[in-house]
Amino acid sequence: MDPGDARSILEDERERGLALIAAATSLDDLERAKVALLGRKSPWSQVQRSLGRLDPDARRELGRLSNEVKATLEDAFDARREALEGSSEDALLEGDRVDVTLPGRRPRPGSLHPLTIVQSRIVDVFTRMGYRVAEGPEIEDEWHNFEALNIPPDHPARTMKDSLYVDVPGLLLRTETSAVQIRTMETQQPPVYVIVPGRVYRREAVDATHGSMFQQVEGLAVDEGISFADLKGTLEAFAHAMFGSDRRVRLNPDYFPFVEPGAQLAVSCFVCDGAGCRVCGNGWIELLGAGMVHPKVLENCGYDPERYTGFAFGLGIERVAMPLYGVNDLRLFYEGDVRFLEQFEGAP
Ligand SMILES: [Zn+2]
Repeated sequence: MDPGDARSILEDERERGLALIAAATSLDDLERAKVALLGRKSPWSQVQRSLGRLDPDARRELGRLSNEVKATLEDAFDARREALEGSSEDALLEGDRVDVTLPGRRPRPGSLHPLTIVQSRIVDVFTRMGYRVAEGPEIEDEWHNFEALNIPPDHPARTMKDSLYVDVPGLLLRTETSAVQIRTMETQQPPVYVIVPGRVYRREAVDATHGSMFQQVEGLAVDEGISFADLKGTLEAFAHAMFGSDRRVRLNPDYFPFVEPGAQLAVSCFVCDGAGCRVCGNGWIELLGAGMVHPKVLENCGYDPERYTGFAFGLGIERVAMPLYGVNDLRLFYEGDVRFLEQFEGAP
């Protein structure tokens, strides 16, 4: 090879090489450029191999130039490799970057069941008046569910037709939260002021206004000198707290074995204010049963009916929730349909 040719090949290769290295956009590109520029078949290698056949002066001069070109290209390779490695890391980091401004995928929050909302509102009204919450078992014995409540064995409520008995003789699913009245009085001396939320069970055909399971809140107050006026005042305060202060209440005589006298409380309809509408019919909404605790019931629990008197009341939570939310079929509360339930999110 002519020394002049060799020199111009080396200088061309330096130019070509620097351009090739600068143009490499990936580590693979760069590796291919290195093979093309300094590999065994590269023009630079051909010059390198021809050096031995040159005279000593030309060999020294071209040898130095060849080493210079090789060093220049290798420096350029190293610099480019570093840059590409850095940017591939940047690319990885970019890919992993979290955009904190994007809206998140948030789980859908549940909401309180409408009956739970109504129950806690009722319980709240009474705990603010100083009542405490009491609870009892859902499987009851006949003493607490019937006899102690002055419901004798021949009473129609005790027939198999109305109650749901379990396999153990003498035990049944409680038909009233009133059973908890007995349990409370058996374990505590007056004064007693308790509010008892809970499920009760009846053997009833299920329809729009009846279910075999429903929820009650029971109230009991026993103390010295409690009169029917206290009962009326308490229920009036409850109706006002629950349905608004302009509600009127009405008590009609009614019969329950465990109270004497007994009454049914109705409030003036909060939709039509007593004029009569689709929700109430005649302007009044029947809310609950109540009465003065029967002396026999007090006696059954070891209280002296000459010294203590009391009142009790019980209301169905569904009966309150239906007019309150305009729900016309009780079964909706128990079907677990999200389309129904989600309407109560944030309901007061
Ligand atoms: Zn009405």
